[in-house]
Amino acid sequence: MVLLLLITGCGKENNATKDTDKIQVIATYSIIYDIVKNVGGEQIEIHTLAPVGSNPHEYDPLPKDVQLTTDADAVFYNGLNLEGGNSWFEKLLLTAGKVEKDAPVFRLSEGVEPKHLTTKGKESEEDPHAWLDIRNGIKYAENAKNALIKVDPDHADVYEKNAEAYIAELTKLHEEAVARYNEIPKEKRLLITSEGAFKYFSDAYGFEAAYIWEINSENQGSPDQVSKVVDFIRSKEDPVLFVETSIDPRSMETVSAETGVPIYGKVFTDSIGKPGEDGDTYIKMMEWNIDTIFNGLTE
Ligand SMILES: [Zn+2]
Repeated sequence: MVLLLLITGCGKENNATKDTDKIQVIATYSIIYDIVKNVGGEQIEIHTLAPVGSNPHEYDPLPKDVQLTTDADAVFYNGLNLEGGNSWFEKLLLTAGKVEKDAPVFRLSEGVEPKHLTTKGKESEEDPHAWLDIRNGIKYAENAKNALIKVDPDHADVYEKNAEAYIAELTKLHEEAVARYNEIPKEKRLLITSEGAFKYFSDAYGFEAAYIWEINSENQGSPDQVSKVVDFIRSKEDPVLFVETSIDPRSMETVSAETGVPIYGKVFTDSIGKPGEDGDTYIKMMEWNIDTIFNGLTE
């Protein structure tokens, strides 16, 4: 009988590389991939759909992504309009058969106070970049913990312990960021990037944010958008430019050339860094941003 069960059990599993003892997890992009990985630890095997370094606003899932999503025990997404760009995630869930009410699909931004776009005609759309305020990153970690406990209650104690340690690190980092930025006079705290991804960050750390376009989409970096930010930059004393790692830098290079203001450095917004490179975890990307922005504004 035992042998028979083992055989049927094996027959059901057609992916030889899969570790069946682990909870199979899917994340829509690399930032929540890393947060969930920290909370799940050894108990989970996790895959990110939009790869490291790519733009998660719009993504075309591969056949492999469909298969992994179909097989997944838990699927995590940001929500707040992030994966809505070309409805890629909605379509993927439909194809993968994960649309019923009780499907194990979890929105990590649950409980975050949403901010909205300000571009005319888009005011009803949510801004997805909540994770750039570390206090929201903590909410994501808590939501990941609750979801993993729901899916795998046998290991609740592990998820509790992992989340507690991870949240302690995040709390410390948030407090450090607040303390450091308080050293910079409020009127100097101006952050200029390509995409307007820093609403939540600005609110948390007392910045004014300016950008070329408000949210990644097909028509980003138009001449009109460029000339608007160029005028804004010319009206400011000692402005500093930053460019995000997950977007085409050419628009910011144009802005830099037109204003004569150099690009100070790179910042991470919609993706962590490649493994082994700068900012390759959520904590490291936030540390990188905190340092780079601080140095750019104080040098
Ligand atoms: Zn973005």
